[in-house]
Amino acid sequence: MKEEHNQINCPICLNESFLAIETGIHQCYYCLDEVQTDMTCTKGHVICQYCLNADFKHRVIRHCLKNKSDDPSIISNVFLSSFLDMKGETEEYFLITAVMVTAICNYKKHYSLKEALLEDSLNRFNTIPVQLVDQHGTSGAALAAGAFYRVVGANHMDEKKIWQNSNLLVSRCMDRIARLNTPPCMLRDILLVITICVDFVSETLLMNLPFPQRLVCQRNHSTYCPKEGCIFLDRSSKYPLFSGILGN
Ligand SMILES: [Zn+2]
Ligand SMILES: [Zn+2]
Repeated sequence: MKEEHNQINCPICLNESFLAIETGIHQCYYCLDEVQTDMTCTKGHVICQYCLNADFKHRVIRHCLKNKSDDPSIISNVFLSSFLDMKGETEEYFLITAVMVTAICNYKKHYSLKEALLEDSLNRFNTIPVQLVDQHGTSGAALAAGAFYRVVGANHMDEKKIWQNSNLLVSRCMDRIARLNTPPCMLRDILLVITICVDFVSETLLMNLPFPQRLVCQRNHSTYCPKEGCIFLDRSSKYPLFSGILGN
């Protein structure tokens, strides 16, 4: 499909400059599908019309289906780096569910199961009431983690154990976020919950995913950002309390 370039800024990096490039097939930033284009932003970003027009959750699924990494930070950073995503919408908690399901499938090399499990993830995530999350955002991050565990737990334990572990994971997420004792921040909660999920998977499923060391918030201009108090902006010894969580 020939792409139209009528946008003023690159939707991914907001760069205003576009470059004429050799006409040919280039890969979509999200889904890696082939896009025929003769222009990119100066950083080389290309996005297909489907991903550009899709809602956040479906853009995440399209990327996760193609991503083969078992490192949650590598999968997440595609979205954390893009201005098209992470605008503070409730649906963005789905990143937790989808990234963790994808990391587990990739870790086990169960690539053929991924599509069905991501669809299950979306269905479970969509049952989380938006009004509840809007009123009490932190629960959105914790419940998205619970949805992840219910999806992957089915192949590893009986229903009673899945019920117990997913509730333990939800409560651990709420507990850790509450103990940060900084202003609320949706993106901070998403990043922290992903690290908690990695630890929890190691404890309960005995799978050691790469610890998401490279998970870095790139939205510190947000009015909700705790700035100096955010563990994802500054991982120095300034915040030794969280050094265990982050593995530093
Ligand atoms: Zn760009
Ligand atoms: Zn695409």
